[in-house]
Amino acid sequence: MPENQIEEVKGRTDIVAIIGERIELKKAGRNYKANCPFHGEKTPSFMVSPELQIFKCFGCDAKGDVFSFLEQYEGMEFPEALKYLADRAGVKLQKFQGGESSEKERLIEVNTQTLRFYNYLLLEHPVGKKALDYLMNQRGLKKETIQEFSLGYSPESSYSLKKFLVDKKKFTPSEVERAGIGIVRGSNLYDRFNGRVVFPLFDHRGNSIGFSGRVLPWDKRETGKYINSPETPLYHKSNVLYGLNLARGLIKKKKTAIVVEGELDLISSWQAGIKNVVAIKGSALTEEQVKLLSRFAQRFILALDSDMAGDAATRRGIKVASDMGVEIKVAEISGGYKDPDEAARGNIESYKKDLIGAKVIWDFLIDSVFARNNAETGSGKSKISKEITPILSEISDKIVQAHYANVVARKLGVPLDAVSEEIAKDQKVSTGAPSGIEEKTEGRTKREVLEENFLKLAFFDDPKTLASKEISVLIKLPLNVKLIEEYKKFSDGTTFKISEFGKNLPRELFGGFSKMVLLEERDLSEKPEELKKELELVKKELKILAVKEKLEILQSQIREMEEKGDKNKLLEAQNKFNKLVKMRSTYEKENGSGIILNED
Ligand code: ATP
Ligand code: MN
Repeated sequence: MPENQIEEVKGRTDIVAIIGERIELKKAGRNYKANCPFHGEKTPSFMVSPELQIFKCFGCDAKGDVFSFLEQYEGMEFPEALKYLADRAGVKLQKFQGGESSEKERLIEVNTQTLRFYNYLLLEHPVGKKALDYLMNQRGLKKETIQEFSLGYSPESSYSLKKFLVDKKKFTPSEVERAGIGIVRGSNLYDRFNGRVVFPLFDHRGNSIGFSGRVLPWDKRETGKYINSPETPLYHKSNVLYGLNLARGLIKKKKTAIVVEGELDLISSWQAGIKNVVAIKGSALTEEQVKLLSRFAQRFILALDSDMAGDAATRRGIKVASDMGVEIKVAEISGGYKDPDEAARGNIESYKKDLIGAKVIWDFLIDSVFARNNAETGSGKSKISKEITPILSEISDKIVQAHYANVVARKLGVPLDAVSEEIAKDQKVSTGAPSGIEEKTEGRTKREVLEENFLKLAFFDDPKTLASKEISVLIKLPLNVKLIEEYKKFSDGTTFKISEFGKNLPRELFGGFSKMVLLEERDLSEKPEELKKELELVKKELKILAVKEKLEILQSQIREMEEKGDKNKLLEAQNKFNKLVKMRSTYEKENGSGIILNED
């Protein structure tokens, strides 16, 4: 790909628009900010600079340009991101040499063709007739639903898959194997899903990435009821949420995601009109799934088997979600139905009621501990204590935790202090991950803060100041000195654009410069008076600081001289010291006092 095409696409793309379509950006001075989509946080440390066309999170250090945003956020690969942006910008890309697509694209193509093949067999071919009967008559699926989910049937003999994919579509057997569909044995290519109903799996953008296959009831083979694609470059079990590609819009709109276990739980709910649903396919709710889903909704209703909701692995996912500020509820299926699939087909109204009446996760977990144990006896209380303390100490919001400590104390008929103490003990024992997600770098020196403030004001609103003579007195830190040198080289004294300047900066300076740009939330360009005042104040502060620094050095020299008894030099130094002290107080008196700097 010619370098200039990448630049052309980038030049015609606005990172603010691309990111703004995916997460909510708020204007903050010359930049935009948001809660970081790459780690959980409740106060924004994710910044986007329209001038430099970059983003950076000051919490988790995710950063980059528009391409890397799409790579990180959408899981796109570079060529895919390039194509996506080129299409939007109306740039016609020249073909890669030889017209080869990436491995991932190729494997998506294998999966896509396979799903068309299976889907055709299920809906149109006699070989799929019995499977279609099963889905429609025993599982209650409408043809329309089967089509929406592109369900399919994989024939018992592997022969036709090979004929279709290899002979007709010209994929190599190895590609079919790498895509997770076939198994190569000598010259044979076996179909991993043979004889099963297949559920195509998609990533959240709708790329076909794998399958799960369910046995038919009359199948006498000794295999699991479901099998899934193996881990491939496309399919990572812990990342996939079944149905998200279809449900994401509605999940966003309703601000709520219902999480069910199985493919059929999801499909039946969908068919009955409950469409903001995803399925975790029978395994624990993982951290990756939580992060993915929390991009679309901040409320999850888990309609899982109750063992599952309390399961240790799922609890970890729940903890991650609630630390991210996601509200989690648990719905229990009533009416004697085994799972959401049966409930959706059996009594949709009662299923809906179950969802609406879902309990806050902590109430659910606490209630289930009490339901399993006798709260009247001493030994019962001891068991409850052992089970409930870890749950309570997982609640990171201290107010919420206090609320539930109260609830538990009341239910047990013991003093609140007893419960609180158990929590405190538990938290001392568990050496969980550091909770400093929202940490910002602290401990900067006064000079660092002041110089940065000065440079920001100057660069953004009055760059000519950077060429003034007094600069060398004010600015001392190497990065800043170098930035000013670059400015003098770059600027022709008339127009100055941050974006152009950024592009021309040497790599080793860009990081520091962009950080400065990204952290600026003021925009004083339209308030020249305020800007002038602010600049003067920072200059004054810097001058005072320079004097103070000199005084400190002098002071230690004076101490040394006193020890050595070097009278002449001592006198000289003391005179100098007095001069500096006077100078400092003149500076301090100049145009009033008051420091209006952001020092944090
Ligand atoms: P169905 O509704 O298809 O008859 P079920 O209601 O009996 O299944 P379970 O057997 O509890 O459901 O399975 C729930 C979900 O767990 C399935 O939809 C599937 O996603 C997953 N699952 C079940 N068995 C397996 C397995 N052997 N390997 C992998 N995943 C499985
Ligand atoms: Mn079921």
